[in-house]
Amino acid sequence: MYPFTLIRPESPAAAIKNATKGTKFIAGGTNLVDLMKLDIETPTALVDINGLEAFNTIETLPDGRIRVGALVKNSALAWHSEIARRFPLLSQALLSGASPQLRNMATTGGNMLQRTRCYYFYDPAFPCNKRVPGSGCPAIDGYNRNHAVLGTSEHCIASHPSDMCVALAAIDPRVMLHGPRGERSIAFAELHRLPGSTPHLENTLLPGELITAIELPSLPFAVHSHYLKVRDRASYEFALASAAVALDIQGGTIRAARIALGGVGTKPWRSKAAEKTLVGAAAGDATYKIAADAALNGAIPHKHNAFKIELAKRTLVRTLNIVGGNA
Ligand SMILES: Cc1cc2nc3c(=O)[nH]c(=O)nc-3n(C[C@H](O)[C@H](O)[C@H](O)COP(=O)(O)OP(=O)(O)OC[C@H]3O[C@@H](n4cnc5c(N)ncnc54)[C@H](O)[C@@H]3O)c2cc1C
Ligand code: SF4
Repeated sequence: MYPFTLIRPESPAAAIKNATKGTKFIAGGTNLVDLMKLDIETPTALVDINGLEAFNTIETLPDGRIRVGALVKNSALAWHSEIARRFPLLSQALLSGASPQLRNMATTGGNMLQRTRCYYFYDPAFPCNKRVPGSGCPAIDGYNRNHAVLGTSEHCIASHPSDMCVALAAIDPRVMLHGPRGERSIAFAELHRLPGSTPHLENTLLPGELITAIELPSLPFAVHSHYLKVRDRASYEFALASAAVALDIQGGTIRAARIALGGVGTKPWRSKAAEKTLVGAAAGDATYKIAADAALNGAIPHKHNAFKIELAKRTLVRTLNIVGGNA
């Protein structure tokens, strides 16, 4: 690792002021430090935001929304009683990720901005459009078993690795931001970019912008929800395919649905097409299979990851069955 400056700001304003070109915010450090050790991330300075206590709270607002500070640890969020009761899919997604030790360090903000697990991205001996724009993508004709089938481009097929973000894609919170130009908020769906021809640009944050919190909407039917993750081993492994599902079913008919997939998309993948097939239909296997086909419609397989299309469909059908059962 090379030398860098460590800055410990005492206020959000000081953090933003110090976030000049070449610097990075550091939260739990569980992704950033690994990337720095490999010289994949080479910040000249780290702005350590862990002292900003205001970002470490979970608060239920009068209208039922829940505000989660960017520094709340993944373990604290997963075990929070309101989250576990009102958003089981989020709690389950968090607890399916990494290991207890990592979840005790990893933060809400850092989890959202963690980088892909594409093998070539982590190995500077290979070219990679995400690491060095314009250098090429060896994954497309190489070993691509953990890569995406949805949202890919001819420049990058890396999958988004986060479990938490799949649940968030289904819940659709607001992401609260604070930067040199002031405060703003965006929909979670707007945070991550598709790779297109610029896979090195992964999110829509402006230079120097800090994620301060997310605000979960009051989504009453999310109490009927589940996150299911399929992976090569039962623990400490990223998803091959995962599904986050919330259903509002009345009298056997689906009134509202939220569907998101993980392990298969270049960003946390909400499927409004699948949701559309579910609303107004009878809860049950036949309906769920139609939704799964819609969710994977347009998926593009590569040599080693074609299995993910069927796997993701089955994962989604199984999750729908867990939440909705057969009418
Ligand atoms: C061995 C291993 C296994 C793992 N398994 C899983 C898994 O199964 N599922 C899963 O989902 N994840 C998994 N992870 C990833 C882990 O969840 C992430 O590393 C973690 O969530 C990142 O959070 P952090 O706070 O440590 O981020 P950091 O490493 O501190 O930061 C990550 C990025 O976010 C930026 N950042 C951090 N906070 C902010 C903020 N508030 N505003 C703006 N930018 C910010 C940083 O500048 C950096 O670019 C695994 C990690 C490891 C090392
Ligand atoms: S898939 Fe994306 S991250 Fe992986 S080698 Fe290709 S360009 Fe790089």
